[in-house]
Amino acid sequence: MKLFVCVNQVPDTETRVKVGQDGKTIDRSEINLILNPYDEFAVEAALQLKDKNGGEVTYVSVGRDSNKEVLRKALAMGGDKGILVKTDSVGDSYSVASMIASALKDSGADMIFFGKQSIDYDDSAIGTMVAEMLGLPSASVVVKLDVDEGAKKVVCEREIEGGKETVEMTIPCVITAQKGLNEPRYPSLKGIMAAKSKPIQEVTPSAVDSLVEVTEMRKPPAKQAGKILGTDKTAVPELVRLLHEEAKVI
Ligand SMILES: Cc1cc2nc3c(=O)[nH]c(=O)nc-3n(C[C@H](O)[C@H](O)[C@H](O)COP(=O)(O)OP(=O)(O)OC[C@H]3O[C@@H](n4cnc5c(N)ncnc54)[C@H](O)[C@@H]3O)c2cc1C
Repeated sequence: MKLFVCVNQVPDTETRVKVGQDGKTIDRSEINLILNPYDEFAVEAALQLKDKNGGEVTYVSVGRDSNKEVLRKALAMGGDKGILVKTDSVGDSYSVASMIASALKDSGADMIFFGKQSIDYDDSAIGTMVAEMLGLPSASVVVKLDVDEGAKKVVCEREIEGGKETVEMTIPCVITAQKGLNEPRYPSLKGIMAAKSKPIQEVTPSAVDSLVEVTEMRKPPAKQAGKILGTDKTAVPELVRLLHEEAKVI
């Protein structure tokens, strides 16, 4: 099977993100960047399919030279090669999705995997947009996957509010992976060494304008210091009054 996994580079979850000087973007100058955590489930799903059915796993990332780091991280987990869609003008989800779709349109992909969302901008949009652009069926927020390569059929369990939904699609198709789909493997030392010599092809996309403009980005207001009303039951009436009159939660 020809399997593709789209991987994004995002700020580490431990990072204290700062808003850039322009008040519209994340300041990436002093932050540790990692492989988007949801993309690890996508990588693992593709690698498990390759382990079972054979084939080829290719990773795709849109961005700058630094995106090669996440391609190498994925290649250290397994898989065959990477494609860096190299651009300085990363725009909105539509712009990124358009560049992925044009890189993959003639690829002969059987399945294209995404994370369910990128933890930087949280749009949960790109996988579904790429499916639409390529005219492929897609299932999002997938927590269980059964692929019958011979019958060209995919059965997915999706997480929906308060329950699960089972859907069927034909191959070729697009999946966005949710936590719980699998347990992503750790790169082994051998995998890390092997990744250094796996090929990463660079392609230059045509620029695609964003449809959405970010007008402002701000952090939530700093939390106010907590109040200690007392340490025994005499504090309860005042606590109830404050919860009722100030916090208005009871
Ligand atoms: C108007 C606008 C301008 C922006 N300008 C910049 C900018 O200048 N620089 C910048 O770094 N970011 C910029 N961004 C953010 C950038 O578009 C996001 O990092 C990117 O779109 C991913 O976030 P998302 O929430 O759209 O992805 P989602 O839709 O939540 O991502 C879903 C999945 O898509 C895949 N995916 C996401 N991004 C990529 C990628 N780049 N390559 C391969 N696969 C991917 C992953 O599998 C991911 O799990 C901008 C966003 C907007 C709205």
